[in-house]
Amino acid sequence: MTDWRVPLSVLDYGVEEAEAAQRVIASKWLSMGPEVAAFEREFAQMQSARHAFAVSSATAALHLAMHAIRLGSGDEVIQPAINFVAAANMTLLAGATPVFADICSLAEPTLDPGHVERLITPRTKAIVPMHYGGNLARMSELRELCKQRGVAMIEDSCHAVGAAYHDPQGREPHGVMAGSIGDLGTFSFYANKNLACGEGGMLVTNRDDLGERIQMMRSHGMTRSSWERHHGRPGSYDIALAGFNYRLDELHAALGRVQLAKLLAGNQRRQQLLARYREGLRDAERWTMVFADQIEHSSGHLMVAVAASAEMRANAAHALREAGIQSSMHYPSILEFSGFRGRFPEPLALTHQFASRAITLPMHPGLRAEQVDEITHILRAVE
Ligand SMILES: *Cc1c(COP(=O)(O)O)cnc(C)c1O
Repeated sequence: MTDWRVPLSVLDYGVEEAEAAQRVIASKWLSMGPEVAAFEREFAQMQSARHAFAVSSATAALHLAMHAIRLGSGDEVIQPAINFVAAANMTLLAGATPVFADICSLAEPTLDPGHVERLITPRTKAIVPMHYGGNLARMSELRELCKQRGVAMIEDSCHAVGAAYHDPQGREPHGVMAGSIGDLGTFSFYANKNLACGEGGMLVTNRDDLGERIQMMRSHGMTRSSWERHHGRPGSYDIALAGFNYRLDELHAALGRVQLAKLLAGNQRRQQLLARYREGLRDAERWTMVFADQIEHSSGHLMVAVAASAEMRANAAHALREAGIQSSMHYPSILEFSGFRGRFPEPLALTHQFASRAITLPMHPGLRAEQVDEITHILRAVE
């Protein structure tokens, strides 16, 4: 429901999604059934991952990931402050402390490995890179740091579903899917994501030890199989540890499977539109388009440009609004939220500049080239 002539995002939903929902309704089986199992199998296959766990949201996936690595009080988790707040919130709720590192540059707003390295202490338990807009962070450097220092990596891959890592120098892990590079990867299927179910998420890992804990913790800490092994009593179960209910249900999984089948074509269309934006802004020196030179490796989740000043961004948002075009902002710096301000005093110069000057523009597979042209025309005229 929107009054915008050109909204930020429009769901790519049609008759296939309606049929999938009908199929589940007709089956009279709503949870812990074949759709979730198939969704996990199909997602794991795309990722070439050993384990994929469908969960109720990416926030749940992050929470489970942090519990799986036994994150707790006294531990620190290095992460960007340009992110949705879920990773920082889950870090705090796991009893640990978020440590915010700066971004590489305004054109590359992902974790700066040099700053991460300076922030690592004996208390650092994990690093959480976020693949901003569907563009991968500097994974070869970050992974190397994690290996050297014995730190876990949880990828917040919510923006990067369907994107593979590309290193310009061809260094490892070249070609590996976002979310399957670190120890754990989290995905969101929230309504405005490239793969959308309404609510939902996925947690992937190649580590069997983590997979086993996640399997139990997703559903109350329950282990049916170990009880059966020991007691041979089907239908009964054991609780091996304290867990959550973070399961996904059959309806959302059925929608997710249809969306997964459309994903790569949708991402490709997004890349074409990003290239059109890049073309339209080519001579506009006062605008910096993020990750403009790696469009062909992006999931194309977001189209973001950085203005020369905060005032120029405000003027752009105003001019777009006047033309019926929606814009947004990904993201305010987490350090500036009242619940975080003051507790984490590290000043992050680039993060602050990015948060005050970045604007998110319409991007979805149904966007038309003429609409992109109209938007870049407006931006070029903004002072
Ligand atoms: C959407 C999003 C989340 C949260 O996902 P939910 O499924 O809504 O919990 C976390 N991190 C990033 C980068 C996101 O885009």
